[in-house]
Amino acid sequence: MKKLLAALLILALLSLSWSTVPVYAKEKVLVKEGSINARSGPGTHYDIVGKVDGGEVYTVQKKEKDWLKIQLPSGEKAWIASWLTEKAGKQEKEEGHQAAPYAKITASSLYIHEKPSLASKTIGTVTKGDTFSILKRENHWVQIQWEKNQKGWLPGWLVESVMKHTSAIHKNSKITVKEDGVALREKANASSPVKKWAKKGDTFDVVGVKKNYYEVKTGWGKTAFVAGWLVEADNKADQISPPDSLYDLTGKLILIDPGHGGNDSGTIGKNGTLEKNLTLSTAKRLKEKLESSGANVILTRNNDVYVALSERTDQAFAAQPDAFISIHYDSAEQSEVRGITPYYYHSYQKQLAKAIYQNLEEEGTLTIRDERFGDYHVLRQNSQPAILLELGYLSNPDEEDTVTSPAFQGKAVNAIYEGISQYLTGIKYE
Ligand SMILES: [Zn+2]
Repeated sequence: MKKLLAALLILALLSLSWSTVPVYAKEKVLVKEGSINARSGPGTHYDIVGKVDGGEVYTVQKKEKDWLKIQLPSGEKAWIASWLTEKAGKQEKEEGHQAAPYAKITASSLYIHEKPSLASKTIGTVTKGDTFSILKRENHWVQIQWEKNQKGWLPGWLVESVMKHTSAIHKNSKITVKEDGVALREKANASSPVKKWAKKGDTFDVVGVKKNYYEVKTGWGKTAFVAGWLVEADNKADQISPPDSLYDLTGKLILIDPGHGGNDSGTIGKNGTLEKNLTLSTAKRLKEKLESSGANVILTRNNDVYVALSERTDQAFAAQPDAFISIHYDSAEQSEVRGITPYYYHSYQKQLAKAIYQNLEEEGTLTIRDERFGDYHVLRQNSQPAILLELGYLSNPDEEDTVTSPAFQGKAVNAIYEGISQYLTGIKYE
């Protein structure tokens, strides 16, 4: 009997360690960016019931696939996407990585409390638009510095986390896009859907600032968000600087190679996805992410043009990047074939492939095959650490649906970014 119990215990432990799910119930998670939507159920098709802000910490009550059940400050239960969060506590180890440092008051007037509780003594008032440095966050409350050497607490759900200590952007401010392929997004975060790609030299009128994004007027009568550090503000005082990020890739050069282009469409998905379009949009997302860590990033093509394989390796030879990442989507005769495969050719490329493989697996996107040898021109004729990623099968209709979703793109780009960063810095954050 004892033996049986011991065997069961070992089995239970084993199955725990097999799980790649990063978050368990009762754990605390930190919202990475936002404001992000909180929904009535575990999926993007459920109604939005509230918002949670970057920097806030929540206890996970339940997990279902990629969604976490939490309690909102209002007391209501809601679901948030796990890929927009990270384990709380992690950020303390990450020097230089911090949530938005200022609180802007959104309520018309608010009491400042002595402690992070509505029941505690009030010690002052603040009014709408006032901005304060955040000293600490606790249970949806933020501690601010409000007068010389005076500290107090504000209810975090009545303030907005902002990156800059300015209450308003200058009137009639304009921004100019610094390079080709800068995303105009629906919301102020890197996972939000792209409405349009802006070109170098495009200018926009700024209507507001949210986190480190400008909200700009678009030609089609609505507003969109653009990452502040990828554009130049006409008025220097309005310039948004790059966010503090986990990894510092300053001085690193990365060459991203979006597969195919022009009259070479690559593979065509069962539902009509053209590989050449998807590789380019993944590449641009990855570029934005790497640049936010200070890296210099070049693409072998910025738009829908044909670039020969030899031209791509010539670019690598000329630029001598620290990493070369070729992005593709796969196809097979049998529609049930699925999964991601990272390829390398030379032994000096294997470590990079391994780092990216590990992160893709940890991110839990699709089935990942071990990094493997692949005889591709862009790897073989490449003197740099280079890998080729086949990011799922467009010949499998289910997988085509998955890989074209913003959720997958966000996660895959995140994993590739982490892999590159770990490879280049030798640091791995758990
Ligand atoms: Zn391809």
